[in-house]
Amino acid sequence: MMSVDRDSAEFRDYLEMYDNAPLLELGALAERERYRQHPDEMVTYIIDRNINYTNVCVADCQFCAFYRRPKDASGYVLSFEQIGAKIDECKALGGMQILLQGGHNPYIPFDWYLELMRYIKRHHPIHIHGFSPSEVVFFSERFRLPVSDVVRQLREAGLDSIPGGGGEILVDAVRQRVARKKAQTEEWLGVQEEAHRQGMKTSVTMMYGLGESQADRIEHLFRVRELQARTGGFTAFICWPLQPEGTPGMSDRVKTDSVTYLRTLAMARIICTNVPNLQSSWVTMGLKVGQVALRFGANDFGSLMMEENVVSAAGTTHRATIGEMERAIRDAGYRPRRRRQDYSMVDEPLAAVA
Ligand code: SF4
Repeated sequence: MMSVDRDSAEFRDYLEMYDNAPLLELGALAERERYRQHPDEMVTYIIDRNINYTNVCVADCQFCAFYRRPKDASGYVLSFEQIGAKIDECKALGGMQILLQGGHNPYIPFDWYLELMRYIKRHHPIHIHGFSPSEVVFFSERFRLPVSDVVRQLREAGLDSIPGGGGEILVDAVRQRVARKKAQTEEWLGVQEEAHRQGMKTSVTMMYGLGESQADRIEHLFRVRELQARTGGFTAFICWPLQPEGTPGMSDRVKTDSVTYLRTLAMARIICTNVPNLQSSWVTMGLKVGQVALRFGANDFGSLMMEENVVSAAGTTHRATIGEMERAIRDAGYRPRRRRQDYSMVDEPLAAVA
């Protein structure tokens, strides 16, 4: 098990910087690293659709306003046909991928997931970015299969890449308090490492504002950097604050402010210099802060998400059309470019930019 030395000079320096460096100084440092890796004035984005195939979950995360316990009348599992119809709508809008995630539903057999992958590839072919490490760990425990088998079988059935959902804060003392029943730090990172080992690319996230310390956040970034140094499999880092409204265990918390967001994003760029892409989380922070984030290390505007059930269940999400998103990127001084999941560029014109 890898451990982070919080007493090292490097750790203490970064913590001091996160706590005390003037905001614009942090932004300048992050921007310098951004331009070192991406020297042009381009900001990328992807059109995709978030499909939450089930909201039934037994993990009971304190911060989740989306899930329903088994037997709750408003629990659902989408049919293959419903998922196919959502993919068709996404493709009609120029969508390049689906983000397929769901609750830890104890009633779904493993074959259902494998069949779903095959069904999508056969009838509605699209890049499937799906099943966060927490879901993979749940499958592994539920179906008594090693993580490597779960990843391999999903991949052989059609899964293309794995999203970094459920990362929250990669420090067990924090996870034990807010998400005790799902993948802990080593398990979560273990799925990522296994996926990279099998040749898949993944993204990595951080959701902060769960009552963790500043040092916990820095430790999270160190863990990301350390794994990336060994595998190189992370394409992107995305962070956002807890959306406390409507959550079962954290609704009395106050959402952390925009300055905290910008400082955290900048620290991610400054520390994780081996992760190529940082996304601006305008969906949670709003377009204006999303634009400012481009001066704090972000080089990507994330996705135009046609659905965002999990975050929007907690109340605060921001929506925009493709036209509004491109305008926001231009107004911030950059050239918008559509991309695929692997960050290659899309040159075909969109049929209609709303
Ligand atoms: S965050 Fe995911 S794992 Fe946790 S309760 Fe919500 S749906 Fe379940």
